[in-house]
Amino acid sequence: MSALQEEFTRASARLILHAFDIGYGVTYGETYRTPEQAALNAQRGTGVTNSLHTDRLAIDLNLFKDGVYITDDTGHRQLGAWWKALGPRYRWGGDLAKKDYNHYSLSPDGVRA
Ligand SMILES: [Zn+2]
Repeated sequence: MSALQEEFTRASARLILHAFDIGYGVTYGETYRTPEQAALNAQRGTGVTNSLHTDRLAIDLNLFKDGVYITDDTGHRQLGAWWKALGPRYRWGGDLAKKDYNHYSLSPDGVRA
């Protein structure tokens, strides 16, 4: 798992730089999530128990345009396409049934997101 986690960390750093390069402001959202918090989120209906955040393989990025927080897929759609071009295991939350535009992950099996 460690090699994949390191690949994810390196790729997410590139993703953040790319977001700035194409004109967006970026701040960190959630990255690592404890299994306890993931279970609580699942209970509340705001997340899933087996989230890749618990494996240090997912990051939520907050995007801003001219200082205004973006709540839809603006910017994320372009970044998601860039992210997915890195390989088949790179997943973007905009493709999930329950849209999660600021979520980017590297999936061990290409399915979990
Ligand atoms: Zn997420």
